[in-house]
Amino acid sequence: MKYQRILLKLSGEALAGDRQEYVINPQILERYAKEIKKVVEKGVQVAIVVGGGNIYRGSEANVSGIDKVQGDYMGMLATVINGMALQSAIEKQGIYTRLMSAIRIEQVCEPFIRRRAIRHLEKGRVVIFAAGTGNPYFTTDSAASLRAIEIEAQVVLKGTKVDGIYTADPMKDSSATRYNNLTFDEVYQKGLNVMDMTAFTLCKENNLPIIVFDMNQEGNLLRIVEGEEVGTLVAM
Ligand code: UDP
Repeated sequence: MKYQRILLKLSGEALAGDRQEYVINPQILERYAKEIKKVVEKGVQVAIVVGGGNIYRGSEANVSGIDKVQGDYMGMLATVINGMALQSAIEKQGIYTRLMSAIRIEQVCEPFIRRRAIRHLEKGRVVIFAAGTGNPYFTTDSAASLRAIEIEAQVVLKGTKVDGIYTADPMKDSSATRYNNLTFDEVYQKGLNVMDMTAFTLCKENNLPIIVFDMNQEGNLLRIVEGEEVGTLVAM
């Protein structure tokens, strides 16, 4: 295995899928759980940061007259709901999991304690990090970078609906082409949208590679941990 410990970032929107009727699409949940199982069975230690955008985003707060900081906390709580769903789906596959939250909600999650998280990983448990960083004005991408550094993950795998980073938005521009590799500096220079700047800079400063890949393509996650070139790799 190329990677022994990974941090997988799943957005809330990915869990909803394309069909409008679902907040959390049960088929996607099951599919993702099966993909995760495949790498756990290979002995890879898996930590996951889950987003909340399918339920609530702090940026929606102003529109509905809700205080921004309050809205951000609502967004963080949304990630707890997604984390619980993901936990349930992964456990259905017979894999042990722990849900750790950056905000204390002890009836359903353990508090995030770095050493304990690492211990869970060493024991082969999938650790899901919920509630982002626990701070308003951040995103779950920042939480992904931060937790990855804390647990000494070798790579951040950003599972999305597109299969990598493109020269332009492939949904809008049919001439857009995909990059296989980029350096951190190239991403800055070209103004590409990989993660928000806080999250991205954290990865750069800690020399933590990022792979953006299509999580909906069966087998992709396993291919990546086995060392195949999938999606776009951003590294030094
Ligand atoms: N959020 C926050 N601090 C964090 C992580 C998340 O305030 O450390 C809030 C923020 O309002 C964000 C929402 O939670 O809009 C949901 O997270 P995000 O938008 O990153 O989810 P995703 O886009 O990955 O589904």
